[in-house]
Amino acid sequence: MVNHHAARQGSVDRSLHPGARSLPLRTRAAIAAGRFAAAASRRTGRGGGGMIGGRTALALAPEALRHLGTNRTVVIVTGTNGKTTTSLMLSRILSTLGPVAANGDGANMPDGVLAALMAAPHAEHAVLEVDEYYVPLVAERVRPAGIVLLNLSRDQLDRAGEVRMTERDLRAAVSTLPDTFVVANCDDPLVTSAARDAAQPVWVGAGQLWHDDGTACARCGQAIRRDSDSWSCVCGLARPEPEWTLNDRTLAGPGNLQVPLDLRLPGRANAANAAIAVAAAAQLGVSPTLAAGTLRAIDNVGGRYREVSYAGHTVRVLLAKNPAGWGETLPLLNGNRAVVIAVNSREPDGRDMSWLWDVPFEVLRGRHVVAAGERATDLAVRLSYAEVEHTIEHDPLRAVRELDTESVDLVGNYTAFRDVIGRLRDA
Ligand SMILES: [Zn+2]
Repeated sequence: MVNHHAARQGSVDRSLHPGARSLPLRTRAAIAAGRFAAAASRRTGRGGGGMIGGRTALALAPEALRHLGTNRTVVIVTGTNGKTTTSLMLSRILSTLGPVAANGDGANMPDGVLAALMAAPHAEHAVLEVDEYYVPLVAERVRPAGIVLLNLSRDQLDRAGEVRMTERDLRAAVSTLPDTFVVANCDDPLVTSAARDAAQPVWVGAGQLWHDDGTACARCGQAIRRDSDSWSCVCGLARPEPEWTLNDRTLAGPGNLQVPLDLRLPGRANAANAAIAVAAAAQLGVSPTLAAGTLRAIDNVGGRYREVSYAGHTVRVLLAKNPAGWGETLPLLNGNRAVVIAVNSREPDGRDMSWLWDVPFEVLRGRHVVAAGERATDLAVRLSYAEVEHTIEHDPLRAVRELDTESVDLVGNYTAFRDVIGRLRDA
């Protein structure tokens, strides 16, 4: 009887990390079932398998996340924009210490997070990109060493009201984690409000272009007052003095530390992501200069920013999912390149297209834009009001093929970007 039991445990145990041997049998069985489901899913061609594996394991053992997340050093990365990029940066930095479990595929709900932990059973560190909405649930279970809080703004317009609720939920979650450091961008008033009650806040002055979602104070509803490099509210909520400050491409840190951020990823937002990743890694004992040095190797994030050859053109594909993201992406469009903008409105994009009116397309005045995607016509109307010269071609890659200019910047929202990346991969 005892031997039989031990043998059964042994068969489930294989390939789990040493700490996992102490997992309850139910969790180990659930993980094994999850792996079986993932493998079956891969065999039948129904997807990568990771998410299905995570979902199966979670359904069979709701405590699996707790069991697989504890006994390692976990950092949760969250915020509206930059989660995937910052998680990739932090993973690269922490990989100088040893193996890192990470959901680099952007599967940032609990099943994707669990799948990432299951996939790297030996990793002592884990960097988990987590959707803002699920941070309280995941954090309560994995008890992270740290949380990285990048920014908070409305995602799709149909979720606009939720950003304040998200802030309140994050604030409540953070206040229940006395051993967790929270690295937070103090130039974002919503983020500051969410992180201020943390036991160990680490403030980074990483800048913020998008102010429209932080005009009213999250604590009292009064108007946030801003001057050139600070902000405050009558209730006392104000920009904390940061420990780390991003100045253009140099990160100033504690003790007159000056860390150059020499990145291949373009734009202000990526410099901000890098600054926050370096600050978070420093909390775990990684030298900031060493950390910054590892970031130079990153030239794309899931196909974003990478230049690919297609039909005689060089195409750089960019992703923007919400007004703040568009506000950071449009200034990246190089003046010597043709511009194709592809917009869809499927479920993951948000059905409501009124967000188009929040995006500052006016910055493209004087350039020719091809409006593409399933909602190219809606985009064209917006471009007309922005006085941006444009033509319409619904298929983004046909739009590229028909251009005279060799170099092209192609910006898509979520599903438009995903489809283009997939087609370029198959081309
Ligand atoms: Zn206030």
